[in-house]
Amino acid sequence: MKIARFEMPDGRIQHGLLEGANTLRIISGDIFGSWHPAEETVPLGAVRLLAPVSPPNILAIGLNYRAHARESGAALPERPVLFLKATTALCHPGDPIVLPAVAPNEVDYECELAIVIGKRAKRVSEEEALDYVLGYTCANDVSARDCQLRLDSQWARGKSFDTFAPLGPWVETDLNPDAAPIRSRLNGVVMQESNTSDMIFSCRKLISYLSQGITLLPGTVIMTGTPSGVGFARKPPVFFRPGDVIEIEIDGIGTLRNPIVAEGQNA
Ligand code: MG
Repeated sequence: MKIARFEMPDGRIQHGLLEGANTLRIISGDIFGSWHPAEETVPLGAVRLLAPVSPPNILAIGLNYRAHARESGAALPERPVLFLKATTALCHPGDPIVLPAVAPNEVDYECELAIVIGKRAKRVSEEEALDYVLGYTCANDVSARDCQLRLDSQWARGKSFDTFAPLGPWVETDLNPDAAPIRSRLNGVVMQESNTSDMIFSCRKLISYLSQGITLLPGTVIMTGTPSGVGFARKPPVFFRPGDVIEIEIDGIGTLRNPIVAEGQNA
């Protein structure tokens, strides 16, 4: 089941179920509580897709794929490396990623599987962890590498600029999170190509670990780390330039596509 969030032609914000390739059936009720499919449908092409949830927190895991830890020059982590992205960084499918005027030159992509928590989780076991998941979506952990790796002593600012958390295009509830092919494409060229089976810490491990001390509220997004092939580790490095288009694709979910613009420039 694919659950989208979108703005209707009349301005209403709705959740809906994707039926076939082109139809959305309006959901009546709360996707984190009780809901049912309504009679009303709308063509996919008639709505503006939004990030599928408005998360209370965006938790993110660094260095969760071996080859990416290696290309970053980092040791393999013994426990998950947690950081947070500001919720104000949320970016809708199709909306531009803005190169911030204060740090426009080393902005990079990271394709990631994002977990969307479905019900309040505190101190849950690995065995029961996936019972707390609503579903999964595509995320781009956009990162200003100069801030992240040289200018600042930690990662928060470089990963939290406005528009640096694209999410979507919808939540897939029926995905196996341990075996999902994942890739990124920059201007149509594949830059990262991997599978979530290569994660060091699986989704159930991450949910259980994080929930030991942090309440995971409904709608919480956990970005689960990126595979190798990011721009800063390439020789020569590759960073976003205005006019680029970045796509994050996970088989079984779909494709999250965002153009790149300079601050002050229209998409
Ligand atoms: Mg990341």
